[in-house]
Amino acid sequence: MKQKETLSTTPLKEQHIDLSNLLIEEMGDEHKASSVETPLRADAFDKTDEEKIAAIAPHFKAIMEILGMDLRDDSLRGTPLRVAKMYVKELFQGLNPANMPSMTLFENKFQYNEMLVEKNINFYTNCEHHFVPFFGKAHVAYISSGKVIGLSKLNRLVEYFSKRPQVQERLTMQIGKALQTVLQTQDVAVMMDAKHLCVSSRGVKDDSSNTITSFFGGKFQEEKKKMEFLKYVDINE
Ligand SMILES: [Zn+2]
Repeated sequence: MKQKETLSTTPLKEQHIDLSNLLIEEMGDEHKASSVETPLRADAFDKTDEEKIAAIAPHFKAIMEILGMDLRDDSLRGTPLRVAKMYVKELFQGLNPANMPSMTLFENKFQYNEMLVEKNINFYTNCEHHFVPFFGKAHVAYISSGKVIGLSKLNRLVEYFSKRPQVQERLTMQIGKALQTVLQTQDVAVMMDAKHLCVSSRGVKDDSSNTITSFFGGKFQEEKKKMEFLKYVDINE
């Protein structure tokens, strides 16, 4: 926690990183082939947010009507537009690279060369197979290669990739790979521990199980660093 205080109170030379350019450059022509990428149509962003909201609302209204609901009821009338806005402006706004958080890097002037762990980052996302939430804690770590990042940016990055229809494996890898790109190091670890409503509230109705996924890059593939990270995270806490 000492690191956190030092970071926020010392004026440092800033370096702004445009994550969207970095990621697209890195993935290059293999953009589509990469299993880490969210499958998107070529025309994904031809429509504005407002056009998408206007187009989604009647479809959601149709689903409700087919289910037998009477949309003339006061309580239901506003739901189609409300859901459409929520999808585009909130739950799935991370589909659009224009909404990527800006990443600011600092020189690692303190010569802090051990791992930095940001644990218990809350995240909420939606399963792309059922469009119901899964949520839990993300734990991320990196070892500086000479650059450090504002701690809140780690939360913002987790949030950004969560605001998409997701599968937990892909979400974990997208965060890990984005951090590697931003921080210019392979030495990144991510662990996500989540509850899936598609498992607990329907289907097998198991509400005691959690799903854990991990990403270990660079030095975190070494047993010693991996164990140190897992010890800090201690997901049974
Ligand atoms: Zn599901």
